[in-house]
Amino acid sequence: MPQLSNFDEIYQFLHKRFENEKEYLQAVHEVLQDIVPIYNANEAYKSLDVIRRLCMPERIIYFTISWMNSDGDIEVNQGWRVQHNSAMGPYKGGLRFHPTVNLSVLKFLAFEQCFKNALTGLPMGGGKGGADFNPKGRSDRDIMLFCQAFMRELQRHIGANTDVPAGDINVGAREIGYLYGEYRRLNNRFEGVLTGKGLEFGGSYVRTEATGFGLIYFLEAVCRAQDSVVEGKTVIVSGAGNVALHAALKASEKGAKVVTLSNSRGLLYNEQGLSEADITWAIENHNQRDNILLDMEDEGMGKWQADETPWHIKCDIALPCATQNELDECDARKLIENGCTMILEGANMPCTDKAQNVFFDAKVTYVPGKASNAGGVALSGLEMSQNAMFSQRNAETLDEQLQTIMNHIHNLCVTEGKLGGETYINYMKGANVAAFRKLADAIVAQGV
Ligand code: GLU
Repeated sequence: MPQLSNFDEIYQFLHKRFENEKEYLQAVHEVLQDIVPIYNANEAYKSLDVIRRLCMPERIIYFTISWMNSDGDIEVNQGWRVQHNSAMGPYKGGLRFHPTVNLSVLKFLAFEQCFKNALTGLPMGGGKGGADFNPKGRSDRDIMLFCQAFMRELQRHIGANTDVPAGDINVGAREIGYLYGEYRRLNNRFEGVLTGKGLEFGGSYVRTEATGFGLIYFLEAVCRAQDSVVEGKTVIVSGAGNVALHAALKASEKGAKVVTLSNSRGLLYNEQGLSEADITWAIENHNQRDNILLDMEDEGMGKWQADETPWHIKCDIALPCATQNELDECDARKLIENGCTMILEGANMPCTDKAQNVFFDAKVTYVPGKASNAGGVALSGLEMSQNAMFSQRNAETLDEQLQTIMNHIHNLCVTEGKLGGETYINYMKGANVAAFRKLADAIVAQGV
């Protein structure tokens, strides 16, 4: 019998139990590659079995949402909250409403969230939740009825010091408002139990912009480290939601030429680069439109290409900001062939593991979402602290704090990702190792 390494042992343990959970195993596998050597070198980590405890969610809540829509029909959806790890603070992470939501997707997101949250330096554990509800094309009233029914179940499991959900795909300010209203009515408590709230009821300035803006602040730090600048670079962005649009806006404010946006139906291409006015228009209107990119074409803001993704477009920098596994090995090769030298993830796990390997082999800069998209949850952490103090900081202060946090994460990645005197910075390894050390130390300090 060949001797199994700790890597094999831990991975096989998880694989045997969760072999159908493809996304979860993918996320864990990526992290294990980087952290097992750190674990093997630390007796305390090994004796307390830190990795297995960190890979398995502490608790998973599953519920059925049976609700009556505005036509009087009964609809039945599945809902989950994965409370992954609370060693560093209350469970914290968004809610996603999308037909592709299942336990594997939420487990991968909750696992990643722990690492991301640890990198922010704020006291937050990790979690994720959501439902297989598809809000596309639904009336505002149906959205409210669904959010209320979802919260009727979720409310007993969350609290300002227990678990603090926020938004994710298809859960924005409107949904958070409806969810928060139902929580408040049922519990008779006004507390910071959700983040991403409206400014009138405990929300924070800069929260909406934070993920996209934070991504560009991280990009600036990467450029600085390479004696380069964002100005003048050609950038392709995928996605057309909150993260993509705010990343596009900040990049163009910094003088980059943002030539694409996309959604599941196609691509908007503007060879000259979208103007700040174009992107601002999209930010203001995207929630009310079925396909904002087609509307942008109608407004003369670019050319719509049905069923295309942005990855074949020539660029210096690629920002995948749509969803998991949207960029595969072939796409990665195309990017490299066309001269792209930086890939920073705005979405969670948008690049497949094979795409990551293409980037590493080509020695281009690749930054995983848990580092580069941490700005959103960082601002959520700042919203929690404002709620705890019943105060509201101004936008300027918060934007500065966001920049400080993104620079701090960049420094952590450089320190841990540039070992052995190499010049190439492996941001994935840096993020995984830096976050793991913090999580593992918190687990060890708190015993079994
Ligand atoms: N959904 C966001 C993320 O993926 C934000 C989570 C939060 O603010 O709690 O990090």
